[in-house]
Amino acid sequence: MSHLMNTYARLPVAFTHGEGVWLFDETGKRYLDALSGIAVSTLGHNHPRLVRAISEQAASVLHTSNLYRIPRQEELADRIAALSGMDEVFFCNSGCEANEAAIKLARFYGHKKNIDHPEIIVMENAFHGRTLATLSATGNRKTQAGFEPLVTGFVRVPYKNIAAIRAVGEHNHNVVAIMLEMVQGEGGINIADDAFQRELRAICDERGWLLICDEVQCGIGRTGHWFGFQQSGVKPDIMTLAKGLGSGVPIGACVTAGRAAGLFAPGNHGSTFGGNPLACAAGLATLDEIEDKALRDNAVRVGAAICNGMREALAGVAGVVDIRGRGLMIGIELDRPCGDLVRQALEAGLLINVTAERVIRLLPALVFTEQDAGALVSALAPLVRKFLAQ
Ligand SMILES: *Cc1c(COP(=O)(O)O)cnc(C)c1O
Repeated sequence: MSHLMNTYARLPVAFTHGEGVWLFDETGKRYLDALSGIAVSTLGHNHPRLVRAISEQAASVLHTSNLYRIPRQEELADRIAALSGMDEVFFCNSGCEANEAAIKLARFYGHKKNIDHPEIIVMENAFHGRTLATLSATGNRKTQAGFEPLVTGFVRVPYKNIAAIRAVGEHNHNVVAIMLEMVQGEGGINIADDAFQRELRAICDERGWLLICDEVQCGIGRTGHWFGFQQSGVKPDIMTLAKGLGSGVPIGACVTAGRAAGLFAPGNHGSTFGGNPLACAAGLATLDEIEDKALRDNAVRVGAAICNGMREALAGVAGVVDIRGRGLMIGIELDRPCGDLVRQALEAGLLINVTAERVIRLLPALVFTEQDAGALVSALAPLVRKFLAQ
């Protein structure tokens, strides 16, 4: 009997090592990794620059605590501020923690404006994490069921519906912020178009609300932009990062600008591990490599190759509802639940994911090549055809 708590329905495979976009299991079988540990392994596996950066950091100092200055953390904050045009960074260790910080900030902002019961507008099909506040913000009943009472202070609206947001603003004077993913990941790769992004910014400016972008999955170059909101050129007041930032080393960040900056003082928030030298070395190596190797352009090019390849290979196949993506965040929506495809792909040496029951989700490393894209399409398209023909 396993002593692991039963929180994941794990596939019957364990990987011993990785090389670039490939993972190898205990029998030596190799798998093309089109998931990157859910958008985490930005630079693929065993990347020399990352390995060097974290080895060197480990050999000097791993952890000192935030009771002291951490030069690597200051450097990484400078980099994130420069890339986003934002002002201040709080480091933590995961996406839900980054969002917790964002939610606390929004409430704090509300209280400063004498709003005693601040509320945050959140979206249907959103995913913000599994801590109590973030699962309450998440728009999926399955994530919440059994954990009531939920944290209050969230108002839910349909995704991409500016009229619904305006309607809330008309009668609810406790609203202090809108929180959303510019590309919903767990929700099924749903993409906020430029017009909606700009309207969000406009209504937040009109009403003095904070715009909070959860960039935990779509940030760090994955969409072809450093951050999903840069698609439309709007700038949020708060953004959160995690998954891809450390290429596999746990790190999260809550980033603020303008009126969301300068709110917290010592004692308002903290993290023991957050932004330790090791995690920040991984973050810096990740950002440097994305920049030096033009991996954002690569994400656009290779993402298009995958989408176009799948569209061609599945043209006219009944049961394919939509193939959509932005950069290397790709969803193939079918007309039926398709969780079984994950195991079939695994047998075929391919790592994929299914989310929102009917959406095949692809989140390859930013180092994926067009050749890798070809291999992915050749492996995946026949599996989808066969699955739909059953
Ligand atoms: C994964 C994810 C989270 C939660 O991140 P954890 O590191 O698992 O806590 C939050 N928001 C989005 C958009 C995510 O994709």
